[in-house]
Amino acid sequence: MHNKTIAQIARDLAAGEYSSVEITQSLLTRIEQLDKTYNSFITVTAEQALAQAKAADEQRAAGNANAWTGVPMAHKDIFCTNGVLTSCASKMLSNFVAPYDATVVSNFNQAGAVSLGKLNMDEFAMGSSNESSYYGGVKNPWDIERVPGGSSGGSAAAVAARLVPGATATDTGGSIRQPAAFCGITGLKPTYGRVSRWGMIAFASSLDQGGTMTRTAEDSAMMLNVMASFDPKDSTCVDQDIPDYTATLNNSIEGLTIGLPKEYFRDDLSAEMQQQVRDAIAEFEKMGAKVKEISLPNTHLAIPAYYVVAPAECSANLSRMDGVRFGHRCENPQDINDLYKRSRGEGFGEEVKRRIMVGAYALSAGFYDAYYKQAQQVRRLIKNDFVEAFKEVDVIMSPTTPSPAFKAGEKTSDPVAMYLEDIFTIALNLAGLPGMSIPCGQVAAEGGNPLPVGLQLIGNYFDEARLLNLGHQFQQATDWHQQAPADLA
Ligand code: GLN
Repeated sequence: MHNKTIAQIARDLAAGEYSSVEITQSLLTRIEQLDKTYNSFITVTAEQALAQAKAADEQRAAGNANAWTGVPMAHKDIFCTNGVLTSCASKMLSNFVAPYDATVVSNFNQAGAVSLGKLNMDEFAMGSSNESSYYGGVKNPWDIERVPGGSSGGSAAAVAARLVPGATATDTGGSIRQPAAFCGITGLKPTYGRVSRWGMIAFASSLDQGGTMTRTAEDSAMMLNVMASFDPKDSTCVDQDIPDYTATLNNSIEGLTIGLPKEYFRDDLSAEMQQQVRDAIAEFEKMGAKVKEISLPNTHLAIPAYYVVAPAECSANLSRMDGVRFGHRCENPQDINDLYKRSRGEGFGEEVKRRIMVGAYALSAGFYDAYYKQAQQVRRLIKNDFVEAFKEVDVIMSPTTPSPAFKAGEKTSDPVAMYLEDIFTIALNLAGLPGMSIPCGQVAAEGGNPLPVGLQLIGNYFDEARLLNLGHQFQQATDWHQQAPADLA
């Protein structure tokens, strides 16, 4: 049962092949057996999941089922869940039981989905390897010595290990697409404003966006149908028509123009990976798409601009974690300064502290113009590159990451090497564009394990349906998305 996709489970439940309680129980058992190894869950809500499954089965018996009734999934531990620990993988929030559901969570609850629990991540979504979690690192199911990517590493590993057919995730600079690529699954980051951020713990508010982790583009379309909603509680949520994302999956892609940015096909990329990506693009050409080289000349400015904007916004967002209003409180504070210093000193991990310090510095009176303001101006240049490119092409394609999954510990002592992981993903967040990673090949790695390679599809604003259509067409023609880590097939 664990190999079923969301679409298959929905069909099976409708056909009465098994009940929601049965599939929920079988996945809970699998999580119990396997997740000791992967550590993809922070909290498993077994009792609640079974109650939701039972209610879903009753609803179906009463003739009130929809596509999602009784379908299991799980949430990244950055989304607030009423009555359930919402830790953001930080010691700071290791005592925080959210008093309400995030809009994304309530959308899934209302659709009748069954949540199996809360997934591990990098602390406050800062990272590219899922090694900064207070609850320990997550292992990549393709090779447990390697990282699953981050920050949504728990979401990616759980889906790749077939513990859940789909999971929510968030992407501020690459945190959906990079772990999806490392774990051989499909990850979609929608346009900024497409999915409500209400109840999604803020890292960098102008960049954060919730999205999906699934095995197929079809499942991703099913998830986005539930996730996307206009939410007056999030003032950056855009009130724009929400199509049925599953309706256009089978559209022909004949005549579409794919842009290949020359800045994204760099000489330092491994030849083997480049080849896999080029082969995947050739597959789209076979289906009738045309290819055109384009240039995104400000690409090299994306990482520097991001590492001013994101820390600046996080230093502001995380100021509420002071041991009074939120979060861990130190023992026996002597006075208010001691309380702040020790609570924050004890509650935050190293990477989060590094970002808060960089951000506070960049925002300080004497440096604001030199750093934050300038980074925002550079951001506009990056956005303009894409606006120009989309006058000529319908979609842009590139590798998702410069290399496949790396070994745990390999980059932990070198923050800049870690930051460079997002070289192909980060510009989209600065521009607010949608992006998707789909598995498009494998490369052999040390130790003999094959490692997945991701193809990134970049769309124009609110063009998620096209990305999903392209992803689905690719997955009809190839079987990379069906490949599973050797001992899990
Ligand atoms: N790796 C990037 C960072 O560390 C992006 C993280 C994310 O998208 N949440 O900030």
